[in-house]
Amino acid sequence: MAAGAAGRRDPEPGPAGEKRILCVGLVCLDIISVVEAYPAEDSDTRCVSQRWQRGGNASNSCTVLALLGAPCAFMGSLAPGLAADFVLADLRRYGVDVGLAVPQAGGSLPASVVIASASRGTRTILHAHGNLPEVTARDFERVDLSQYKWIHWEVFISKDVAQHFGYRSAPEALQGLRSRVQPGATLICAWAEAGADAVGPGGELVHSDAFPPETLVDTLGAGDTFNAAVIFALSAGRSLQDALTFGCQIAGRKCGIQGFDGIV
Ligand code: ADP
Repeated sequence: MAAGAAGRRDPEPGPAGEKRILCVGLVCLDIISVVEAYPAEDSDTRCVSQRWQRGGNASNSCTVLALLGAPCAFMGSLAPGLAADFVLADLRRYGVDVGLAVPQAGGSLPASVVIASASRGTRTILHAHGNLPEVTARDFERVDLSQYKWIHWEVFISKDVAQHFGYRSAPEALQGLRSRVQPGATLICAWAEAGADAVGPGGELVHSDAFPPETLVDTLGAGDTFNAAVIFALSAGRSLQDALTFGCQIAGRKCGIQGFDGIV
């Protein structure tokens, strides 16, 4: 069982009693080296800039939700140590509730080394898992569900996962994976420059084009940004089409800047 679980607390609802959005999943440390062009193997390159950034899918989506003004909370494993202190302080800085973070006694915080190419806007990620135990069903049993209007694990299909299954486009992935999910489920798949597609509960197909920024600067976390913006819109009662378009707009803006500050 997770160490320190007894000290955990459920948050109060957000301002004016507004329920929160909870994102369950990874927080990690991203060490990002921005280079002019992707380096050759066994070369020695000077970076344009280098920074530590809090990363991980759930953590990034919380950042975006907070920037959009939605009260939100993060739930995921935290290792002891300096890197964990850094990400925890950063979550707090954005006003993300961390009362459900699960401190683990052992392991180290997962870290990614990211090579970001300034000329092409690509991000090449080397991820180390850190041997950190996952959040368990028992951890989750302690969550007071009444505090949350939306809980996000994996609903969305990422391009990486879709490609892993052999699909070459978002519509192809949706068509292929639809029979594997419960009837009435909504499936959403983002596909970089091609925007995003979705199939609604009644089988209706929805598409949004991408909104490319003037200059492609940094695509790290574009998918997490898209997910957060779609959740933000859907949880406010907007239609699937509206949510998909909003997701692509915000994700496109993110691709035009380093990091997340400035997407709204
Ligand atoms: P990730 O690889 O981070 O999972 P994707 O590459 O699928 O995410 O992109 C998610 C969303 O971000 C896309 O639906 C799109 O709206 C936006 N996006 C990503 N890359 C670009 C790009 N090169 N130009 C414009 N929009 C992009």
